[in-house]
Amino acid sequence: MEIHVQARTRSKMFCGCAIAELNAPPNTHVCEVCLGLPGVLPVPNKAAVEACLKTALALNCEIPRHTKFDRKNYMYPDLPKGYQISQYDLPMSRDGFLEIGDRRVRIRRVHLEEDTGKLIHAGDKLHKAWESYVDLNRAGVPLMEIVSEPDLRSADEARDYAMELQALLRTVGASNADMEKGQMRAEPNISIRRAGSEELGVKTELKNINSFRALHRAITFEVERQRQALESGGKVVQETRGWSESEQRTFPQRSKEFAEDYRYFPEPDIPPLELDRAWIEQLRASLPELPSVTREALKKELPAADAVLIAGSRDLADLYQRTVARGVPPAATANWIVNEVAPTGKIPSPENLAELVRLVLDGAITREQGRSVLMESVETGRTPAEIVAEHGYAQMSDESELRVLAQAVIDANPKATADFRAGRKQAMQALMADLRKRAPHANAKAASELLMKLLA
Ligand code: ZN
Ligand code: MN
Repeated sequence: MEIHVQARTRSKMFCGCAIAELNAPPNTHVCEVCLGLPGVLPVPNKAAVEACLKTALALNCEIPRHTKFDRKNYMYPDLPKGYQISQYDLPMSRDGFLEIGDRRVRIRRVHLEEDTGKLIHAGDKLHKAWESYVDLNRAGVPLMEIVSEPDLRSADEARDYAMELQALLRTVGASNADMEKGQMRAEPNISIRRAGSEELGVKTELKNINSFRALHRAITFEVERQRQALESGGKVVQETRGWSESEQRTFPQRSKEFAEDYRYFPEPDIPPLELDRAWIEQLRASLPELPSVTREALKKELPAADAVLIAGSRDLADLYQRTVARGVPPAATANWIVNEVAPTGKIPSPENLAELVRLVLDGAITREQGRSVLMESVETGRTPAEIVAEHGYAQMSDESELRVLAQAVIDANPKATADFRAGRKQAMQALMADLRKRAPHANAKAASELLMKLLA
């Protein structure tokens, strides 16, 4: 599997241009360097080197003493210089691994390079008038290329690998790795072989897949296509194929008969880098706890699905750990994080989340009220207690008020009342439903206890 990931930096790989937002007007984030004008000099972005090294270290890679950039020459309209600055024989790192479940996937290398621009095609078929435009906002954006050894055995494993990698990249802060925004693109190389055979079959490469679902479907389709080809006496041709989301199938793009000869040679405008060992060790020491470690720890106190979701984001994992550290029960904290915090992506402070979870657990406010208190707290930074006081959100917990309410519910529901007294406990649900309708802010726990008492 080859995965290209955009390194999280403010500026491009070899110039000072800011990274453009997706909706930026075309060619507004460009300069002499990323336009490939003659006579300019590229300067490597230290933040991109750092992101690449952190990723490599988190993937257990070896970091060589020296690394260098190379020119990969090819001709395409989205490549202004006529070559991509990449890394060939001395990449930033080699020989690591990533563990998914009980399988260890070896990492061949993680190297640094630059992205190309983007072509936009327009025109109409009827008049055979076609136009293509070039947007170079993306040209020169730093990319990490992460290449695995052929250790993945199924579409499931390939997807799990990509998801684990995404969590790891986000945790170490090397990339946002948002597939929908094109910040992470997968290129699986797929071959099949007869059961028991050691030899890998002829492979095809699928290009630029940008969702986990597409990755899984494309691999599943391609495995089946190759199997049918071989079993019907045909053969698999080594080629690059695309994935059509609308047709849910792969299709040939270019054949390796035209295999490119990139004429790699060392980039003469950038001296080789000597990687300072003290800096590497400093980066290694600064790495946060990796998702796999967090997940195993969380699985001891939470349901597996909650543990996976929370461990998949450093922000959520931090929030969880720091909230629980304030003495709030783990299950309730995880419940609020999974159901209320994660979907909005708005992260409250641990102090405020702890206070909120306690208010709901103690029955001071309803869960429904808790939800709006949380939103307001995240937006204004005020504490849940302040917001509750201001809105008069407190639940109806006064015993004499609740007693009047409960008696009214009993009087209005003779059938459910009789059922309950006859031992049909589920009749309580109907009584509570009526009670909530009359007084949505009633403390449900106290109210149901009172109902039982009165019915007894
Ligand atoms: Zn530029
Ligand atoms: Mn590449």
